[in-house]
Amino acid sequence: MASEKHFKYVILGGGVAAGYAAREFDKQGVKPGELAIISKEAVAPYERPALSKAYLFPQNPARLPGFHVCVGSGGERLLPEWYSEKGIELILSTEIAKADLASKTLTSATGVTFTYEILLIATGSTVINLSDFGTPGADSNNILYLREIDDADKLVAAMQAKKGGKAVVIGGGYIGLELSAVLKLNDIDVTMVFPEPWCMPRLFTADIAAFYEAYYANKGVKIVKGTLAVGFDANANGDVTAVKLKDGRVLEADIVVVGVGARPLTALFKGQVAEEKGGIKTDAFFETSVPGVYAIGDVATFPMKMYNELRRVEHVDHSRKSAEQAVKAIKGKESGESVPEYEYLPYFYSRSFDLSWQFYGDNVGETILFGDSDPTSAKPKFGSYWIKDSKVFGAFLEGGSPDENKAIAKVAKTQPPVANLEELKKEGLQFASKI
Ligand SMILES: Cc1cc2nc3c(=O)[nH]c(=O)nc-3n(C[C@H](O)[C@H](O)[C@H](O)COP(=O)(O)OP(=O)(O)OC[C@H]3O[C@@H](n4cnc5c(N)ncnc54)[C@H](O)[C@@H]3O)c2cc1C
Repeated sequence: MASEKHFKYVILGGGVAAGYAAREFDKQGVKPGELAIISKEAVAPYERPALSKAYLFPQNPARLPGFHVCVGSGGERLLPEWYSEKGIELILSTEIAKADLASKTLTSATGVTFTYEILLIATGSTVINLSDFGTPGADSNNILYLREIDDADKLVAAMQAKKGGKAVVIGGGYIGLELSAVLKLNDIDVTMVFPEPWCMPRLFTADIAAFYEAYYANKGVKIVKGTLAVGFDANANGDVTAVKLKDGRVLEADIVVVGVGARPLTALFKGQVAEEKGGIKTDAFFETSVPGVYAIGDVATFPMKMYNELRRVEHVDHSRKSAEQAVKAIKGKESGESVPEYEYLPYFYSRSFDLSWQFYGDNVGETILFGDSDPTSAKPKFGSYWIKDSKVFGAFLEGGSPDENKAIAKVAKTQPPVANLEELKKEGLQFASKI
C-alpha cells in the first residue's frame, strides 16, 4: 500500500541550496520531525563544484564525506548524522514525479506521498543532453555528462579504463575548461571543441580568453573553435570511437565529455506557479506566486536589486545565500519579525590547473584589461574591469590573494566613477585596493 508522510517544511531537492537551507532552519529553530529533505541523490547535500575539480584529481581526490555542505564556504560539515541528531529527515534516493501545489502534495516515482505546509523548491538544474537534439550516436558508451556524484564516478571509471587515451570535451564554458584540465592531469590527451570564437564567451572578453587558451595550449590541451559536434561513431560494443565535426573533421575519442549548458528543473510545477526567464518567479524573499511555496538556488528568478532586474543565477554562492534568505523569511513570517530584501552581488569563480579566478558584478559596457596576462609568466596575475555610464560595473581577477579578491568585490559593489579608461588600465589592481 502506498504510504503518506507529513512534514511542516519540505525541501524538494538535496543539493547545495537544500543543505544551506537545513543549516539555517537549525539556526532559526526547528523541532524534530518538522523538516524533511527529499532528494533523488543517494547522499546528503554536498558542495557540487567539487565534482569538476578535486573529485577528479589523479592524486588524493576529494571524496565524501569530505565535501558535504557547508565546508565550501568555510562552515561546519553537515554529515548524515547531523541531520538525524537534529531530527531532520533526509529522504534520499527518492525522486518526486508529481507535485500538486493546490493540495500541497508531492508524489514519488514509487508512489509515496508527502504533504507539507511550506515547500522549498530546490531542484537545481539538469545538463543539456546531446541526445535531446537527436545528434546521431549521442547515446554511445563513454559519452559523459557531469551534474551529480554518480556522473562523476562514471567519469572517474572512464578515466581509469582509458588511461593514456583520447578525450574530446564538447563545450567551452567553465565546465569544459575545468574538465579539460583534470582530464589532462589524468594523462589523457584532450581536445576541446566549441562553436564560439573564444572560450567562456558569456563572461570572458577576447583578451581574457586569449590568456586561458594559450595557457591550456602550453599544457598540451588542443582547442578546436568555431565548429560543432554533429555526430559520433561507435564500435561493435557501442563504445564511442570518434567525434564528427560540422566542418568535416573527425576526432578520435575514447571518452567524450559534454558540457554544453544546463536548464533549471521546473517541469514538475508547470502551469501551477508563475515563471520568468526560464525559472520560477519569486519575490525578494524567494516566495513564489503560490503563498507558502519558495524557490531557491538555480531554479529561482528573483529581483536582483542592484541592477533593478529579474534574474536567474546558476552559481553556488547564490544557491547558498538564497537558501538562507528564504528560511529567514519563512521564520520571520512566523515570528512577526521583518527580514530585509535580498541584496545580491553576483559572484562566480573557477579553478583549473594552477589557475584561479573570481568575478563580481555585471559584465556590461566597455572593458579594460590590466596586469600580467602573459600565459608563460611564473605567476600570472591580471584582471579586467567592465565600465558602464562611467562607473565600474564588473571586476575579474586571475591569481588574486584573498585581500585582492575582496578589493575587486568591493569595486563591483560600490561602482566607483571612472574618469579615464587609460588611467584605470595603468592603475589596474591599485584602483580596487584603494576603494
Ligand atoms: C560540476 C559542477 C561544477 C560547478 N562548479 C561551480 C563553480 O566552480 N562555481 C560556481 O559558482 N558554481 C559552480 N557550479 C554551479 C553550482 O553547483 C550550482 O549553482 C548549485 O549547485 C545550485 O544549487 P541548487 O541547490 O539550486 O541545485 P543542485 O545543487 O543541483 O541540487 C539540486 C538537487 O535536487 C535534486 N532533484 C532534482 N529534481 C528532483 C526530483 N524531482 N526529486 C528529488 N530530487 C530532485 C537533485 O538530485 C539534486 O540533489 C557547478 C555545477 C556543477 C554541476
